[in-house]
Amino acid sequence: MNLPIRGKAIGLDCGNCDLPFLSHAHGDHLNGVKKSTHIIASKETIELASLSASLSTRPGIQLLDAGHILGSRQLWAETDGGSALYTGDFRLKEGIFSKGAEPKEAEKLIIECTYGDPSFSFPSPEETYSEIAKWVNSHNDSILLLGAYNLGKTQELIKTLNEYCKITPVVTPHSEHFNRVYEKNGIKLDRVVVGTEEAEEVMRGPFVSIVPPKLARKTFASKLGSAFSRKAYSAFVSGWVLRYRHSAHEGFPLSDHADFADILEYVEQVNPKEVTFVHGDGAHLARVLSKKGIRTSLSGALPAQTLPEMEILAPEAKS
Ligand SMILES: [Zn+2]
Repeated sequence: MNLPIRGKAIGLDCGNCDLPFLSHAHGDHLNGVKKSTHIIASKETIELASLSASLSTRPGIQLLDAGHILGSRQLWAETDGGSALYTGDFRLKEGIFSKGAEPKEAEKLIIECTYGDPSFSFPSPEETYSEIAKWVNSHNDSILLLGAYNLGKTQELIKTLNEYCKITPVVTPHSEHFNRVYEKNGIKLDRVVVGTEEAEEVMRGPFVSIVPPKLARKTFASKLGSAFSRKAYSAFVSGWVLRYRHSAHEGFPLSDHADFADILEYVEQVNPKEVTFVHGDGAHLARVLSKKGIRTSLSGALPAQTLPEMEILAPEAKS
């Protein structure tokens, strides 16, 4: 989807335009912009995504914190017909690294709605960090696997384990590029990487490991437990645990997105005349906002972000 700004088409997480805006470095937002030579983004996003593009901007454009992952930004702009705000993926609640997304009034709002259904109501991240810490501390003689995305959630969990449990987790090499960029930007993350001597030392005793979601299964934990002659448990860390069955022992609803109530609160603060929903199912939100007299539309321009997580989830909803 493009936004016309002073005669130029600015791409919103897509490359078919005069100049793309990349809201953050998650792969599902990156696909269209990889070949672009100039991009509007934060410098952290360019580093996380390993892009060689030059950072660019245009008069009338402001980037605001989106509270999602390191470097995530919203784009606010004076447009040809007024003002517009595009959220990208955003979290309103304060997290361990971020104070949450900053809203700014705009006439046109283009907003993600990954969790655009009233059944999604997340506790504050702080509460979930405490729940995770409680679970970790109550299994201190076991091997624990926390299933989480390599970018964003993994760093949030490393920091949670460092600060709430004083634990140095074992991580896989796949998250190391991202871990290093977080550290380069001032976020210290104590961890050891599988395959190193430090990790081997840690893995002689009980340990906590952050693994890709597909490994956070009871079956994998059981195999690992047999190999190390210890009890082993797994947990899946995602907003989707509120709706779908998963194959881990535990589920924690830690999400770096806004939930349904947050989306409505955010829309209220932006006070738009018109809202376009992208990245999720906005049908329910559109009905709620239409009743308040706000014009709404749905755009299928961005792919669903949930697919990698869904691989390990059963298709039927929890009863
Ligand atoms: Zn994202």
